[in-house]
Amino acid sequence: MAAKTKKTRKHLEQYEREMNMCIRCAYCFEKCPVIKEVQWDTDGARGKVIMSYGLLTGELEPSQYIADKLFRCTFCRDCLDRCPSKVNILHIIASARAEIVEAGFASDTHKYIIENIKKTGNIYGDTEVISQEQEGKIPLFIGCQYLGRPNKTKKYLKILEKLDIKPAVVKEICCGFPMEVLGFKDDYEKHKDNFKKHFPFKEAITLCPTCTVFLKEGHEIKAKHVLQIILEKLPKANLNMKVTYHDPCDFSRGLKIIEEPRKILEKLGVEIVEMKNNKENSRCCGGGGGILMTDQELSNDIAKKRIHEALETGVDTLVTSCPTCETTLKKAAQEIAESEGKTISVRSIEDIIWKGLQDAERS
Ligand code: SF4
Ligand code: SF4
Repeated sequence: MAAKTKKTRKHLEQYEREMNMCIRCAYCFEKCPVIKEVQWDTDGARGKVIMSYGLLTGELEPSQYIADKLFRCTFCRDCLDRCPSKVNILHIIASARAEIVEAGFASDTHKYIIENIKKTGNIYGDTEVISQEQEGKIPLFIGCQYLGRPNKTKKYLKILEKLDIKPAVVKEICCGFPMEVLGFKDDYEKHKDNFKKHFPFKEAITLCPTCTVFLKEGHEIKAKHVLQIILEKLPKANLNMKVTYHDPCDFSRGLKIIEEPRKILEKLGVEIVEMKNNKENSRCCGGGGGILMTDQELSNDIAKKRIHEALETGVDTLVTSCPTCETTLKKAAQEIAESEGKTISVRSIEDIIWKGLQDAERS
């Protein structure tokens, strides 16, 4: 067979060496939430790396099949931690997605979100979704997920106020992570300058785990998650609750923030019963990497596995610290309650903190 001509793949080229470092061991399959559901090699990191290499060499042409496979990834980072060759799997997948998007295989929902960011600065395409400015010492980066859930943001601001911390709030725009992860890398390069104009800071407090990772890695901002700040000042309370805690992937694997939320809950008199897969080994909720917009069924199946793990602990409440995890897990818990009659309530950590502060004030 005649050798294929090497294609110009500007996004993948820089990872040629990395892709060749993959020794095909399949350790990346061990806890991959996608491959656990779908069980095709091309749905795990190894298969995605091989497909990406095929795109680079010209052995594979971009197609809808490859697009569907590449977009089946929650960016949960589990494979990154397991890979013995330290292959930069997520950058490779994001770059292969960029090649696929440039070849015209972006999904309509992903295109819609990116257009929204370009037009309005947020993923919703809504000019009303903006932060209410306030003056303060250290800037707060709210992020699209919290901007779209204003009651949650207000609760965090009220918690900070009670703890005597007043952050500055500015009219921020999206950090650009969706552009990077969904394969719109050229749009992200243009967006970067605009982001800097709106958020020209070197350090910040953050609310969303994913934005926190991206402010650090993409914008080199010293970002400190709000829970790290809260832990330093939180008084003790006695909520007398028993819960299980779900570590969001970007928290436990991305930021290595593992003990802080647990210490917060303990301080408030909340006992934690750990799930089988916890901390760095936490099982993904199924809501990341854009999968929620393109394969809701797969995302939901992944979320249901996590809820079943939570049910095995025997507690009636699951607490988490990411708005996407909360939404995804709530939906799965509701479906399990309806179909199997097993119930667990999904709560956000800020709700528990607020309750704890009220309890501390009373006593
Ligand atoms: S764990 Fe790393 S080296 Fe092993 S198959 Fe997966 S990507 Fe390749
Ligand atoms: S990031 Fe998570 S979902 Fe994506 S390939 Fe790796 S283990 Fe699988």
